[in-house]
Amino acid sequence: AQRSSFVVVANRLPVDEVTTTDGEKQWRPSPGGLVTALHPVLAQHRGTWIGWAGGDGPAHDPFDLEGIHIHPVPLSAEELERYYEGQSNATIWPLYHDAVETPVYKRRWREAYRVVNHRFAQAAAEVAAEGATVWVQDYQLQLVPAMLREMRPDLRIGFFLHIPFPPIELFMQMPFRAEVLRGLLGADLVGFQQRLAAQNFVRLARHLLGLRYEGQSIQVDGRRVKAGAFPISIDTADMEKLAADPAVQARAKQIRAELGDPKTIVLGVDRLDYTKGIELRLKAFRELLADGKLNVGEAVMVQVATPSRERVEHYQTLRVRVEREVGRINGEFGRVGTPAVHYLHQSVSKQELAAMYAAADVMMVTPLRDGMNLVAKEYIACRGDTGGALVLSEFAGAATELRQAFLCNPHDPDGVKDALLRAVGAERPELKRRMRVMQRHLRTHDVARWAKSFLDELAVDDEKAGD
Ligand code: UDP
Repeated sequence: AQRSSFVVVANRLPVDEVTTTDGEKQWRPSPGGLVTALHPVLAQHRGTWIGWAGGDGPAHDPFDLEGIHIHPVPLSAEELERYYEGQSNATIWPLYHDAVETPVYKRRWREAYRVVNHRFAQAAAEVAAEGATVWVQDYQLQLVPAMLREMRPDLRIGFFLHIPFPPIELFMQMPFRAEVLRGLLGADLVGFQQRLAAQNFVRLARHLLGLRYEGQSIQVDGRRVKAGAFPISIDTADMEKLAADPAVQARAKQIRAELGDPKTIVLGVDRLDYTKGIELRLKAFRELLADGKLNVGEAVMVQVATPSRERVEHYQTLRVRVEREVGRINGEFGRVGTPAVHYLHQSVSKQELAAMYAAADVMMVTPLRDGMNLVAKEYIACRGDTGGALVLSEFAGAATELRQAFLCNPHDPDGVKDALLRAVGAERPELKRRMRVMQRHLRTHDVARWAKSFLDELAVDDEKAGD
């Protein structure tokens, strides 16, 4: 079998299995920020990507696709329910997002999480060459670093958490908390979106395991584990190019026309997730209509709410609440042919999203908690020199970087309304000035820089450097 000196381990593979018109099954790359950023490194090092291929079918053999060695890990239907929907998305996801929905704890979910994490670790141990670098991704695989170190002490292991890392008080709820923490401490470098998250992590290591730390560096079993902040980003140049495409610009015009050429288009784009603050955003819009501060016909809201995790109960009840609110707003304020809110419970292509971003006067990104929020960054990259306003929650990781947005506290309805009104009323020169600052930031801080800074830091071996 092929051995790689660079291995990525992520829950999901960057490929989808599609059935062609003549009924043949084929693998097709599924583009995403992570694979874009890592592709050059993977191609250069004969790299391997280990992950789940989707579905609950039997194991697939490894194969090559566009210069990447793809190593599928199978999951059974029961594992999908317990490891993925249960432990990952009904326990860890809500707990790490400030418990904005109540986390559910179940023994059999934890057990499945352990079993599946072990399977991923074993796959990595098999494909990694002597002294290879292995980069483990995200909350579904937090036990992998320690399991892998046990199997292969020769490896350089990095871990990056794409979602927030909670304060000690919240983390301490989790029944197998010490096991998760020890799992992460198996890495040489643990990366987070924000400095605060890295601080939560090092403090937790002292609180829960009595480990000593200095700065961002923890002493574990005579090793040093570094923690740090590496805010993820988008492929800015690629997004700018897409938005400038004449077909996308034409589609943006068409969207505006189809919405009746209103004065103000307010846009939301999210997975239908309770962390995203979709309800509070709709409520703010409804109250501004009721207050007479916004008028139907002049202002229209478009909310894309992409279906997500539909078998998890939290998500089913959220959908009911959101759709009831959309119905209420349109019932009270809409007119025949002129709804107040256009609601799309659909997945939208990158092209269509770029056109929507280009068409929208105000983008509302109001999560109660979000690791980063790439939608906010994509909106900025799609604006060219046309201005446009971003209303952004202080609780999104992106708010640390995008200081020229109209920032708001999503827990304060009056604050959200105020930010939206200021965004709607702002003059174009001011909007352009704010946009330019944020665009300049994103051009230098793109996803390639994110990957490079993490991997450069991972490559620094403190012991050998002799400090
Ligand atoms: N996205 C998409 N189609 C949709 C909705 C979202 O392609 O219908 C993309 C969007 O462009 C962004 C990503 O999904 O790149 C969402 O990332 P974000 O960090 O905003 O939120 P997450 O879903 O990861 O919590």
